[in-house]
Amino acid sequence: MSALSWKRRIGLLSGMLPVAKPRKVILLYHTLGPAAPAVSVARFREQLEWLSANANLVTLDTLLTTTAGAALEVAFSFDDGYASLHDEVAPLLQQFGAIATVYLNSACIGESARQASDPGLGHYPDEQFLIWPEVQALAAAGWCIGSHGVEHLDLTAVTATVAAQQLAASKQEIAGRVGRDCRHFAYSWGRFSPQLQQQVKAAGYGSAASGLHGALRTDSDRYALPRIDIRADYELRDFISAVSGQWDYLGYKQRLWRAFA
Ligand SMILES: [Zn+2]
Repeated sequence: MSALSWKRRIGLLSGMLPVAKPRKVILLYHTLGPAAPAVSVARFREQLEWLSANANLVTLDTLLTTTAGAALEVAFSFDDGYASLHDEVAPLLQQFGAIATVYLNSACIGESARQASDPGLGHYPDEQFLIWPEVQALAAAGWCIGSHGVEHLDLTAVTATVAAQQLAASKQEIAGRVGRDCRHFAYSWGRFSPQLQQQVKAAGYGSAASGLHGALRTDSDRYALPRIDIRADYELRDFISAVSGQWDYLGYKQRLWRAFA
C-alpha cells in the first residue's frame, strides 16, 4: 500500500479524535509545475478555492502575533525561492486576496538572469530561481521575504561558525535588497538542533520554520514552527484532511522519532 493510502487510512481513525479550534496552520510548499514533486497549478487553485470558503488567509506575522479570528487561519510559505512564485503563485494568490512568505537561499537569486536549480544541493529538479527584481516585486506586493540560508546547507551538520555566517549573511543580503528587516528563517530539510535554534535567535530572527507536521499553538516553539507540507500527490480530500487536523498524527510520529533519536 502506498504512503498516501496509509495516511488516508490512519487519518480516518485519528479523524475521530477532536481537533482543537480555532486552528492556525502554516502551509509548506516549494513550487508549482507540471510534474511532481511540484504541486500542479490546477491542484493549487482547487486548494485556494476550498481555503477561501473555509479559512481566513493571513500573513505569517498575523498568524504568529494575533489570536485567531476564525475557526481556521492559514498562512502560506514557500521554501527555496523558485521562479514559479513570480510566474504562477503570486498572480493566483492575488486572485484570492492572499500573499505568502518565501524563504530564500540568497546565493541562488540572480541579478537579471534566473539561475537553474541543482538537485545535488537538495533543490527541486528542473527549476529556476527568482531574480532580485522579482523578489522586490513580491515584497512590494506585501509578501514576507524570509531566509533559508545562503546555500541549501544542513546547518546541523556544519560548524557553528559556518552556521552563524549563513544565518547572518543571508539575513543581511535580503534586508539590503528588500529594504526591510528579514525576520523569519526556515531550516533546510527542516533540520534543527537546540544549538542551531539558539544561533537563529542570536542572529536576530523572530521565528524559524521546521518541517514538523502540525498546527501552530500558543505554546509552539517560535524556533521550530510546525508546518503542513502539501505534497504533489494530495487530492483535495487529502489536503482538507491535512489542513483540518485529521492527519495531525503525522506530527506526533515525528516528535516521538525526535525524542528517541
Ligand atoms: Zn529547502
